[in-house]
Amino acid sequence: MQCQSRSLLAGLALGACLTAASRAGVTVGLHFVEGAAERMDFMPIPVPYFPEVDHLIEPWQMTNPANQFVLDGAFAGKTEADVRAAVVASVKERYHSIPTPQGYVLDIDFQVGEVSGPGTVNVIIGKYKLSGTWFGFTKDGGGLGAEANGENNSAVSVDRIDSQLQVDFIHFEDAINAIANVVTHEVAHLFDLKHVWAAARADLGWQPSDPVVTHPFDVMATASSGLPEEGWLEKNIFTSVPGTQAGGVSSVDRLIQTVGLKWTDSPLTIARNGAAFELRWPSRPGKVYDLVSSTDLSTPPSSWEIYDPDGPGGVPPHANLPPSGTGINALSVSAPDSRRFFAVGEKASP
Ligand SMILES: [Zn+2]
Repeated sequence: MQCQSRSLLAGLALGACLTAASRAGVTVGLHFVEGAAERMDFMPIPVPYFPEVDHLIEPWQMTNPANQFVLDGAFAGKTEADVRAAVVASVKERYHSIPTPQGYVLDIDFQVGEVSGPGTVNVIIGKYKLSGTWFGFTKDGGGLGAEANGENNSAVSVDRIDSQLQVDFIHFEDAINAIANVVTHEVAHLFDLKHVWAAARADLGWQPSDPVVTHPFDVMATASSGLPEEGWLEKNIFTSVPGTQAGGVSSVDRLIQTVGLKWTDSPLTIARNGAAFELRWPSRPGKVYDLVSSTDLSTPPSSWEIYDPDGPGGVPPHANLPPSGTGINALSVSAPDSRRFFAVGEKASP
């Protein structure tokens, strides 16, 4: 596509091409369990050892006066709603503050409570019914592709963060960080991030000379990978240290690869509808529109191909689309790929 040969809508950051946006992103529901316990049906422990029916996350009150969170001072005088809101804000901030190319943000959103439908996953937060030592448990990669459909794919056992860490939760932020670090970490497993090995682990292919993350701590670091107990109280982040994830990339790189980016200021909106995407953009008389697309962001939208989902023949490519007359064009396109980016170019009507 040669956007430069087309009339351009002034004032848009990308100049040559009119509008662009990524695929519809993913929404993560942070579900603090209340009432009936939630099933962890993604738990892979063989049934004979622990009946599957017992893999439950039960309600657990973070502000109960008997908790270390409260006794140490952090949650003294706080309501459950205060704490939940602070955890969600902290998790969201870690994802949305990663370094991204100018004008882009990670294409992920968070919501309090359960979410359902395509492009959604849930993290169930409370108390694990059975004994165990993990703070969180996730179906690795469970937020990718067709599996992102509103299922519970990740769990956090907050009671253990409270009782098993040998630290004092003095300030509000200490306890919020400890909980939000775990939630952030488990959500990242959904998008294929692995543990950052801060200590050399030759058995995993790590050598002492390899880059390691010490401070600020990467949110994918764990106790067994060298995160000190006090490190749980700090705001751990996704770091840009190359080589901490497979393939030589950083945690930030892997997150961008698997979650994707969206443009922050695009007039093109995209909503997922099953296997299709519903696109809308402003249109005007005397112009026609080309839909271009790519499965990655390594090339600029001005070089992307006209989108032709079924290839040559069949349904014609999405080119020279006339304005609807209402000021808004709507288009439903099929897109079998788990990740696809779109842009719309405007040109004078031939
Ligand atoms: Zn983990």
